[in-house]
Amino acid sequence: CGIVARVGEGDDSTDELLVGLDNLEYRGYDSAGIAVRSDRGLDVRKRAGGIDDLRSAVAADPPRGAVGIGHTRWSTHGPPTDANAHPHTDCTGDVAVVHNGIIENYDELRDALSAAGHRFDSDTDTEVVPHLIESALADGASPAEAFRSAVDRIEGSYAVAAVVGDRDVVYAARNDSPLVVGVGDSTRYLASDVPAFLEFTDRVAYLEDGDVVRLTPDEFTVTDERGEPVDRPVETVDWDP
Ligand code: GLU
Repeated sequence: CGIVARVGEGDDSTDELLVGLDNLEYRGYDSAGIAVRSDRGLDVRKRAGGIDDLRSAVAADPPRGAVGIGHTRWSTHGPPTDANAHPHTDCTGDVAVVHNGIIENYDELRDALSAAGHRFDSDTDTEVVPHLIESALADGASPAEAFRSAVDRIEGSYAVAAVVGDRDVVYAARNDSPLVVGVGDSTRYLASDVPAFLEFTDRVAYLEDGDVVRLTPDEFTVTDERGEPVDRPVETVDWDP
């Protein structure tokens, strides 16, 4: 139901992601989770329940890293359990994905991926996405190509964000579900809605349906549904955090 992501300076992604998730609570949710790329690889923490439950779950040993994604889930496919909470990962543990909305053709994708040997850990429609990315990477695609090929194969309404491989990059895409980029100093944010990152920046760029975005600490680049580069202008919003 709510997506947040950050890629940038410092290693306090966890704090910023949790602030972002708090700011999206108004959208309603039943589970919450984050994935941060840390020294230990992708560190995923997720829980059914409130953001305070997630906060307690990370308090003793918070993941530290410059890149992360977070999610508040409003269940549509599978009950609110820890396993069904997002982020979802692939079999290698190098790919993590958060998703808002519904993937209409997840059943057939899941059957094909299962037949190809992918093991699923949740009941969600979302979990096909990390496995589609993993399968494209195994076929030799770059992380950017693998993300786009996964987006090209899913149908329905979605905003998705992913961490793929070991670079300081977040990929995201939208179709019928809102997604906004936040432009900070040497840090880029992404969220379902502007209030998520207003403590950190008031400079935003609104994505459009069919957009795929690649965020690094210093820039964001957008391609449309045909893969053509497009410009999504940055504007300053006049909102009180
Ligand atoms: N369909 C996904 C799920 O059930 C995402 C729901 C949402 O938008 O939070 O996990």
